[in-house]
Amino acid sequence: MRRVASRYVAGETLEEALSLVASLNGEGCMATLDVLGEDVTRREETEQTVLDYRKALTEIAARRLDSNVSVKLTALGLKLDPAHCRFEFERIVEAAREHGNFVRIDMEDSSVTEDTLRIFFEFRRMYERIGIVLQAYLHRSPDDARRIAEVGGNVRVCKGIYVEPPGIAYQDRDRIRAAFMELVDLLLDAGCYVGIATHDPALVERALETIRKRRLPREAYEFQMLLGVAGTLRRRLVAGGHRLRVYVPYGEAWYAYSVRRLKENPSIAGHVFMGLFRPEGKPR
Ligand SMILES: Cc1cc2nc3c(=O)[nH]c(=O)nc-3n(C[C@H](O)[C@H](O)[C@H](O)COP(=O)(O)OP(=O)(O)OC[C@H]3O[C@@H](n4cnc5c(N)ncnc54)[C@H](O)[C@@H]3O)c2cc1C
Repeated sequence: MRRVASRYVAGETLEEALSLVASLNGEGCMATLDVLGEDVTRREETEQTVLDYRKALTEIAARRLDSNVSVKLTALGLKLDPAHCRFEFERIVEAAREHGNFVRIDMEDSSVTEDTLRIFFEFRRMYERIGIVLQAYLHRSPDDARRIAEVGGNVRVCKGIYVEPPGIAYQDRDRIRAAFMELVDLLLDAGCYVGIATHDPALVERALETIRKRRLPREAYEFQMLLGVAGTLRRRLVAGGHRLRVYVPYGEAWYAYSVRRLKENPSIAGHVFMGLFRPEGKPR
């Protein structure tokens, strides 16, 4: 498992993650650091996560790295106590503000969509450099996109990784692809900065077409990919002059993270085993 995870996870320590970010920056990629961990079961567990994020933000600034951070609110206790989660998130946002950096709130399963958006809107009023994620498979996402567009939000658009029921989420691959591009278009039309998070070559082509048609400057959007995935496509986009950010997870919770990802979406298993033989994408 450790060998498999090593393709997708930077390592257990901040030092390992920062050195990976430095090599990604050397390749012309930006990064976003994610301290692994989600769904805590005790309030005390959130303290270490907050400290880890604050330290990461300090070190990113000290080393002048091109990286922001991505945070899962359930790692800060969202499911246990939203008020506690807010308090903990504020401590991370404070550190980001101190260093002029950006914090993105990852989107998790549908049981926390509403609470996650509520916290995003609340903090976005206080600090501009906070972003959110919309999942194309959720039927509700276009409405959420319109609400976010009203405040000029910075949005990562992804397909959505959690298994959700047909009543609230599209299941068909092509329908999800169409929904993905509809969201990207809606947000770009509204003048939002969009993080186009996909490794799907068909979607990347569609996005490039939109960018060309609209004559978007490179500052209006970025592509985003996970560490260890689609290295060739990533390099092609960077060579084409597009901004590209790599999602870099790290931390002691790597094992639980990898196992959970496999359970949540067994189709990843195929990619994971391929990763044993074809470790493309990760610098080093
Ligand atoms: C930067 C980033 C942030 C994300 N944040 C969130 C989030 O906050 N919330 C959320 O629900 N989801 C998130 N996701 C996951 C996302 O929702 C999709 O589940 C995931 O990106 C797979 O969809 P795809 O668009 O890449 O297309 P797919 O059709 O799944 O993949 C396209 C191709 O990419 C390759 N590929 C994809 N995944 C892998 C993998 N794990 N290993 C190896 N190869 C792979 C394969 O070659 C595959 O054929 C994020 C994804 C990215 C890239």
